Parts: sequence; structure tokens; C-alpha cells
Amino acid sequence: MVTARAPVRKAGVVGWPVAHSLSPLIHETWAAREGRRITYERIPAAPDDAAFGSAIERLMRDGYKGCNVTLPHKERALALADEASAEARAAGAANMLTFGGRKVIADNSDIAGFAAALEEAGVKPASALILGAGGAARGVAIALRRVCGAARISIINRSADRAIALARLVDGEALDWSSRAAALADADLLVNTTSLGMTGEPPLDLDLEALPRGAAVADIVYSPLETPLLAAARAAGRRAIDGLSMLMHQAAFGYRAWLGNEAVVDADLRARLEAALKARAGA
Ligand code: NDP
Repeated sequence: MVTARAPVRKAGVVGWPVAHSLSPLIHETWAAREGRRITYERIPAAPDDAAFGSAIERLMRDGYKGCNVTLPHKERALALADEASAEARAAGAANMLTFGGRKVIADNSDIAGFAAALEEAGVKPASALILGAGGAARGVAIALRRVCGAARISIINRSADRAIALARLVDGEALDWSSRAAALADADLLVNTTSLGMTGEPPLDLDLEALPRGAAVADIVYSPLETPLLAAARAAGRRAIDGLSMLMHQAAFGYRAWLGNEAVVDADLRARLEAALKARAGA
């Protein structure tokens, strides 16, 4: 137990928009369990270098330990940092900045977060099919290649050039967007990293019939939690892994770096986040 006189440790998440981030709830839950005095704020920064740079300067000046970085600043965060982990450099993006003295150190916990979500679900894919090739897809693809040891990684994206670039990065293959249903036959894990299925976006149009019986489906979209893709996967008797798992696991790295020691991802934390998502959907 930490005494009441311990200084308040400060961190936050910088993004645009950031008003709906669930990260404060995750960090506050962990801090309450340890009796730690912390603040974890949502920090809006407009999508340009100047706004992002001045937000980070302000946090450093005000004694923050570090911050998470979300859309659209993950590449900017890496560019701004003085040092970067091998993971952040490999992904070309950072979702964590740690302030050490006058230095900014970049890291990418999306990679370990996705790998942990698969491990928690007991999924060890030999052959993975990734839909999407945006920022999050890079972390997912690197996790599959470097951490999970997937032997075969196929990438399908609406814009073929981005699929080709990501395939090159992880030594995978890029396939055409129109071949996505047929490509399922060779996958033991399907991962949706596109924004399709998110609240306000159309669902992903994909018939899971060709996906092998023992295959799993992961969707990193978490709002709504049960995307049409995950509902279809469950209805078809396939294992489904939702986006909250990755979100909780990636957050644990920042919490331990800046705020406390114990960052356990468990049913209680999940229940709190699910309740927050439900309240939001009903609002
Ligand atoms: P990006 O904007 O970088 O990438 C979006 C991707 O979606 C691109 O591949 C894009 O294709 C594709 N896409 C968008 N609209 C369509 C469409 N109409 N048809 C087909 N493809 C489309 O976003 P991110 O990668 O950062 O985020 C993607 C999703 O992942 C978001 O929902 C985000 O909330 C979620 N996420 C979840 C995390 C978690 O911890 N669970 C962590 C990070 C993100 P194209 O290249 O052709 O534009």
C-alpha cells in the first residue's frame, strides 16, 4: 500500500479525437487496486506536428511520467522521440512515450498487446490472414511474425499498395481485396484491422464459410465490442477474440512504466470496460 503522501503520478493519452478513450478507466482501475495516487488524462492534440509537439512539451514540463499516443499521432510520436525501442522502430510507429529526464523514449506496446491477447485465447497461428494495412495492422503483423512465430502471413487491404508495403515489412504475401473470401481457406487465424464494423462504419462484408473449422477470428475494433464479424464467427462455431483484449494488454506496459507495478488483465477489468461501452452505446 502506498501512503497518502506519495506524489501523484501523472500520465495520459494524446490523440485526436480522444474524448472516448477507455484508457483512463483501465489505468484508474489498476491504480485503485494498489492504492496509488495517479491521474491519467485524455489530452487532445490537433493532427499536426506543432500541436503534438507542444502537447508533449507541456506534459514534460508538468512532470508527467509518460503518455500513450493514439490516432493520428503514432508515427509523429516516433519521429519526435530521442530514442526508440526495436519494436517501435520496426513498426514505424509508437503508442508509448516515456519521459526520462529531458529525453523522450518511444515504444510500441500494440505489438506485445496483440500477442498477449492471442496467448490468452490459446491461439498460436501457423497461417494468419490480416485484413487491413493501416497503423494497427503493422503492430499486428509484427506480433504475428516476431512474437507468435506465424510461418505464413497474408495481407489483404482495400488499397493494394499499402498491403504490398506491409507484406514486405513482415516477409508476408499481399493478396487482392477481391480474393478475401477465397483466402480464408488457408488461414487458421483471421484478423480484422480495418475500421469496418466500428460504430458508424459499414460492416465487413465477408462470408466465413471457407474458414477452417478450428480457425479463430480476431477483431481489433472494440466499439462495438461484438462486431458483426465476431458475431458471424461465433454463429459459425469459430473462436472469437475481441478488441478489448489487445487494448487491456497494451495498456499494462504503460501502467508499469509510469504509474505502478501491478497491471493484471482480468475479468473484473473487462467487466468495467464492457459496462462503460454499454453505457456509451445507450447514451
Ligand atoms: P488506419 O486509419 O491507420 O487504418 C484503417 C484501415 O481500414 C486501412 O487498412 C483502411 O484501408 C481500412 N478501411 C477503412 N475504410 C475501409 C472501407 N470502407 N473498406 C475497406 N477498408 C477500409 O486505422 P488504425 O489501423 O489505427 O485502426 C484501425 C482500427 O483498429 C480502428 O477501429 C481502431 O479503433 C482499432 N484499434 C484497436 C486497437 C486495440 O487495442 N484493440 C489498437 C489500435 C487500433 P485503406 O488503406 O485502403 O484506406
